[in-house]
Amino acid sequence: MILCSHVGKLVVGAALLLHFGHAKAQTPTSTPQLIVLQPAAVFDGEALHPGWAVLVEGERIRAVGPANQLPTPAGARTVALPGLTLLPGLIEGHSHMLLHPYNETTWNDQVLLESQALRVARATAHAARTLQAGFTTARDLGTEGADYADVGLKQAIEQGLIPGPRLLIATRAIVATGCYGPKLSVDVEVPQGAQEVSGPDEIVRAVREQIGKGADIVKVYADYRLSATSPSVPTFSQDELNLLVVTARSLGKPVVAHASTPEGMRRATLAGVETIEHGDDGTAEVFKLMRQRGVALCPTVAAGDAISQYRGWRKGQTPEPERIAHKRQSMQAARKAGVALAIGGDVGVFAHGDNVRELELLVREHGFTPLEVLRGATSGNAKLFHLPDRGRVAPTLLADLVAVAGDPTQDVQALRQVQWVMKGGTIYRQAQQQ
Ligand SMILES: [Zn+2]
Repeated sequence: MILCSHVGKLVVGAALLLHFGHAKAQTPTSTPQLIVLQPAAVFDGEALHPGWAVLVEGERIRAVGPANQLPTPAGARTVALPGLTLLPGLIEGHSHMLLHPYNETTWNDQVLLESQALRVARATAHAARTLQAGFTTARDLGTEGADYADVGLKQAIEQGLIPGPRLLIATRAIVATGCYGPKLSVDVEVPQGAQEVSGPDEIVRAVREQIGKGADIVKVYADYRLSATSPSVPTFSQDELNLLVVTARSLGKPVVAHASTPEGMRRATLAGVETIEHGDDGTAEVFKLMRQRGVALCPTVAAGDAISQYRGWRKGQTPEPERIAHKRQSMQAARKAGVALAIGGDVGVFAHGDNVRELELLVREHGFTPLEVLRGATSGNAKLFHLPDRGRVAPTLLADLVAVAGDPTQDVQALRQVQWVMKGGTIYRQAQQQ
């Protein structure tokens, strides 16, 4: 035994040395790059600070503060960002990199007719557009029939093979048997947009499979419509949801729930999910329960807005559909109850790169201030998604930074004017002034 262990140690030691030597040969300079960023102002995730500058060292922020007080070490490169506001990289709360807008191809046809290779190829372009739009992190809530393609997509981004945001992925997502889609004739079995389960054994197995293959989050559909024309109904029993959450939690992963009915939302909340996605029919009562249990709402107002337009609503010209008015009421109830808000638009239903649409609608049509949604999409989402290393501009955090023209704390429209993007200290979009 002693000999074995000794030999083992030697082998490990040699491997480490080799690895170290190899890594060293590939990176001729071991000194991390120092960059001083000089914008007109810094929004640090909470407040705007005119005249501040930021020092980046390698992939992290080293210092932030008034430009004239910031240390400028020898050898630091200066990047002037005149007239721009520097802010933490935005965090998308609800995306589907493997989907593209439903007015291009219906969801059913994407799931049934598009090959996984095609969907992944599209997803690489979606990831690039998301990053270019200033979103340096995205919570991607389900591949919608593309199996575990998000695992490889995330790896490709992490390995620097393709540009894209840092991803938190949900892989296949979980639905109750018979309660999702696509549905064709009852005689035809077709692949589903998520993994179907019923009963304790299948639930435990699916949760472990998905987490085992790389899911950062488990997503469950707590309710859904049984046919294209019927309303949503709760799909899982309380016991099933409880077990699903307990199983994920014991593996250290949170559960998020798609739910729009009060009863689906109530069961998911009682089970201990962290966020409810959509919540369109949420009542004062269920929002109060969410608030009590610390469950956040990710309202995805942009999804309903887009789908209503795909169905013929000509915004500003034809009367507002019932769905839109109803959503505005439920959002008011959520605000009144004091439910925490995750900011995410269900992007994929509409075009990737157009992520800001959710923030714009929250400001223009739901009474939020630009500062509220900006905090939400930076420090707020970081907190809700357990990401203490980002969402703010502060020393030691990741250098995920974006520069926009104008003041986004006053005008949400400024977030459309992304001029410069850095992720982990690497610049992905250059300001025109440079
Ligand atoms: Zn979604």
